[in-house]
Amino acid sequence: MRSVYLDNNATTRVDPEVVAAMLPFFTENFGNPSSLHHFGTEAKTALRSARQHLQNLLGAAFEQEIIYTSGGTESDNTAILSALAMQPDRDEIITSAVEHPAILSLCAWLKKNRGIKVHYIPVKANGHLDIEAYRAALSPRTALVSFMWANNETGVIFPIAQLSKIAREAGALFHTDAVQAVGKIAIDLKNSDIDMLSLSGHKLHGPKGIGALYVRKGIKIQPLIRGGHQERGRRGGTENMPAIVGLGVTAQLTAAHLSAENAYIQPLRDRLEQGLLHSISNSMVIGDKENRLSNTLNIAFEHIEGEAILTFLNKAGIAASSGSACASGSMEPSHVLRAMKVPYMFAHGAIRFSFSRDNTEEDVDYVLSVMPAIINNFKKQR
Ligand code: PLP
Repeated sequence: MRSVYLDNNATTRVDPEVVAAMLPFFTENFGNPSSLHHFGTEAKTALRSARQHLQNLLGAAFEQEIIYTSGGTESDNTAILSALAMQPDRDEIITSAVEHPAILSLCAWLKKNRGIKVHYIPVKANGHLDIEAYRAALSPRTALVSFMWANNETGVIFPIAQLSKIAREAGALFHTDAVQAVGKIAIDLKNSDIDMLSLSGHKLHGPKGIGALYVRKGIKIQPLIRGGHQERGRRGGTENMPAIVGLGVTAQLTAAHLSAENAYIQPLRDRLEQGLLHSISNSMVIGDKENRLSNTLNIAFEHIEGEAILTFLNKAGIAASSGSACASGSMEPSHVLRAMKVPYMFAHGAIRFSFSRDNTEEDVDYVLSVMPAIINNFKKQR
């Protein structure tokens, strides 16, 4: 049976070039970058070179602006907790209703346990932020504004240049969870109003358990993990060298191929989208079709359970994901689809297909050859 992986917003296959670059750091180059002997200096050189690749990918002005972390979740947590800790006179956070749980669950915890006021800016039906509500929420008490660059479920891209400019004008720090955007959108941090940015290796054909937090020079960070002097005292713990080297190579490959990859991936996504809309009645695309990641298609089918569709797709060797999450034992539309007020009968049947450079036209044609029959079978059973 054919195996088709269309769940690249969940995670990606590690590029063989990345694996090859990582391997020596498990074997002969196993040094600790803090050691002063040649094993250590070799590791230190690799640590620096990976950081420079990330600096280049992000268009950061200085390499010290990049702090290695264990991934997107740790970067997000560090940004928010540090912004609150370093500005004790500010006790409010502004974020959106459609963020990843890496942001939302921390905000809920901060509200409950530390009395932090959190403004959740609503989104419209197309997934875009209510900018007037955002402006109204800003105040001298705002410690941090944190908006994701691109949504993991719908691919909708927020206008980060505009949003960060508004924060800067109001004197508030601005963080973006760019875990889904890095590698899919060109980024130039030195000419931006972004103060902090989170990224994760495993969404970019890099390894899991490694990521980075960009922190603009001059912004003080309170470490989330205290320990040795690693990362200039901003993140303790011996560096995960194989993963860091892998992240560096990933950044290098991503920077070199970003626009060619988008040009390759988008027509594949569009071919699937048009094919499904054409062959399956009562289907609709969720999220602004114009301002969307080129690799993401969130499509909903009326009156059909997304989870059931996924089971049949999986039987046919196709991996995708649904827009539902298990809540109190039953399947509920995700917080993103609820925030967008996607009609209930559609929200239950939402499926996310997310592409990468590993996909082909044959993959798309295979999905198009099995999906209409799966949906029509459900329709007959109703
Ligand atoms: N933020 C977004 C938008 C994500 O999509 C993810 C992963 O799904 C994360 C944060 C968490 O990243 P990590 O898995 O590296 O902790």
